[in-house]
Amino acid sequence: MYDNSMKIEFISKSQNESFARVSVAAFVSQLDPTVEELADVKTAVSEAVTNSIIHGYENKEGVVKIQAFIKEKELILIVEDQGVGIENIELARQPLYTSRPDLERSGMGFTVMETFMDSLKVESEKNKGTRLTMKKVFNSLS
Ligand code: ATP
Ligand code: MG
Repeated sequence: MYDNSMKIEFISKSQNESFARVSVAAFVSQLDPTVEELADVKTAVSEAVTNSIIHGYENKEGVVKIQAFIKEKELILIVEDQGVGIENIELARQPLYTSRPDLERSGMGFTVMETFMDSLKVESEKNKGTRLTMKKVFNSLS
């Protein structure tokens, strides 16, 4: 059904945020992305993984899982954690909403993901975890 897919799992350490970003970028390179498309995906991965580490696992140790699927020109990206979950998803997705102003977060992560990807679905359950599904169609010719 998909043309290609991959899955990676890593411990929720901030040093792994760049690992995740670069890994997804390497996988996506087969779609011949423009520099801008690639930057968009890397930014979205970075926001999602950072959220899992600092909010989902509250900087304690857990596992972050990323899956990516390619179908023709479309990328489907799933980022999930088994952390604390989100009580009010609608509120969490609002621009400038953050539950951690003490950490100097700006509350723009979900807005950034929505802006740079074509779609963002957020599924979450308290004390079970959070799963983000993002999609993006690459327009580059090849
Ligand atoms: P910024 O991303 O700008 O640094 P932020 O992380 O607070 O700030 P968002 O990424 O938009 O902003 O997330 C909004 C809120 O949603 C977070 O403050 C947090 O309460 C909640 N949240 C997001 N991702 C998760 C997650 N994986 N697990 C638990 N809560 C989350
Ligand atoms: Mg964030």
